[in-house]
Amino acid sequence: MPPEQRKKKVAVIGAGAAGMSCAATLAKHPDKFDVIVFETAEHVGGQATSIDLDPSRYGASWLNDGVQGGSAIFRYTFNFFRQYRHEPQEVKLQVSFGKGKGGFWTNVFPSPLVDNHSAEIKKLGKVLKWIKYTLFVTGVMPVKVILRLFRFSFDFRNKMVLPLLALFLGTGNQTPNVPSALLERLFDDPNMRLWDYDPDTLLPNLPSMYTFPNLGNFYRDWTDDLCSKGVKIKIPCEVEIVERDVTHSDSKHFHNIFENRFREDLCAKATSKERKDQILFATSEPQRRKDGWIGFQPMYYTHSYATHPDKIEMGFDCTNYQYQFRENLEDGSSPPERDRHMFQTIFLNDVEKDLWTIDSIDEDKVICRKWWCQWGHRWQHYLRVVPGLMFINGKNHTLFGGSWTLVNMHEVACVSGIAAAYRLGATYEAFDEFAEEFFAKYLLLTHGVRYKPSGRE
Ligand SMILES: Cc1cc2nc3c(=O)[nH]c(=O)nc-3n(C[C@H](O)[C@H](O)[C@H](O)COP(=O)(O)OP(=O)(O)OC[C@H]3O[C@@H](n4cnc5c(N)ncnc54)[C@H](O)[C@@H]3O)c2cc1C
Repeated sequence: MPPEQRKKKVAVIGAGAAGMSCAATLAKHPDKFDVIVFETAEHVGGQATSIDLDPSRYGASWLNDGVQGGSAIFRYTFNFFRQYRHEPQEVKLQVSFGKGKGGFWTNVFPSPLVDNHSAEIKKLGKVLKWIKYTLFVTGVMPVKVILRLFRFSFDFRNKMVLPLLALFLGTGNQTPNVPSALLERLFDDPNMRLWDYDPDTLLPNLPSMYTFPNLGNFYRDWTDDLCSKGVKIKIPCEVEIVERDVTHSDSKHFHNIFENRFREDLCAKATSKERKDQILFATSEPQRRKDGWIGFQPMYYTHSYATHPDKIEMGFDCTNYQYQFRENLEDGSSPPERDRHMFQTIFLNDVEKDLWTIDSIDEDKVICRKWWCQWGHRWQHYLRVVPGLMFINGKNHTLFGGSWTLVNMHEVACVSGIAAAYRLGATYEAFDEFAEEFFAKYLLLTHGVRYKPSGRE
């Protein structure tokens, strides 16, 4: 057989979002590629996992205990979901940062901490612009250096900016070392922006996010389809722990470390109609609606340790966040009692174990524990690894994918897998201009290749 007619044999290492996206893109060319996916774990999906729950106890039969959601920019992720009729669901994001007076703030109702730092919030907007224009120089500088350089106060840095970044990038206690380009991109880059920068409140009031469908089911359907197209998936097949998360229903523990109830003394004055409306919303009797709960029912939480204000613990109230806990209820119904909620507390960096509140979780209420190996987006990664990728991608018959190649998001993992397949000769199937632009940027940055919409590179 002439060499040009021989099929390329492709081994994909890992069946996470990146590996599966790569295999799926290659599988569209059964005449060109023989694809085999090797996965060391017992399941596909990598960090995108679900667990079963007792519905009579928790009001839903499953929980996504790794990846939980994303914003409207997740075009590839949602496109893959929809191919198998799994639909992400919109939810209005409620966040609760810090604990107690002086430390707490939220995006649900006016908070004194936000008011006290309103000048610094505005100043941050200007600094973000400055980082944008000097990106190649200042972009790699760690956030902690930039924040100090511009003389932001200790409280603003540790109570507002760093927890916000930590929570949404999943960078935990490495956040001070994250390059400032990520901070800027997160607020300003249309392909990465999770929410709009708000010059008054930093985080906008109740922005839209999307919670993911049952990821166990989705990855199973994806696997079945790829197998039916000739892709071979080998599980388990093998070729530093920094984070531990505990899924539990210990509402007492959760309430002790996070601020999850409205308190008059944590609320700033209602000086405008907008603020009055926000307070009215937050103090309303909690009620179900399709995109979340009316009333103060946060999903994302952080609190910092009294002895180490720059270190945090993160938490999720999954019952407030994930849609399956609401879908069988009528609009206007009350949320489940708090001791029927599913919580997740995330303990970061096991060298700081002595700070963790893990021992105060009631053992009888623990549903599962998992160790995750999360990488921290330190500035060194963006100085040494990301810029070097374009020089090693494609060498020695090897292409690299995975969210680690840019930012720790499911969406980045998907685009990285598609890019690897494209480099191997698969066609990029355009379905959305926004997604195509992101693909082109990713390809240029990590492969040093220009995307040509109508032809090949
Ligand atoms: C607790 C948690 C919550 C998160 N929440 C969100 C969220 O809400 N939204 C969001 O966008 N992102 C979130 N993320 C990040 C997101 O999960 C990841 O960025 C994304 O899933 C990574 O996909 P990946 O394919 O790059 O890597 P992985 O999912 O890690 O997949 C890599 C796969 O390769 C396998 N593997 C590794 N080495 C080998 C080997 N030698 N041989 C064979 N197989 C191998 C692994 O077992 C794994 O299955 C979260 C992550 C965690 C841990």
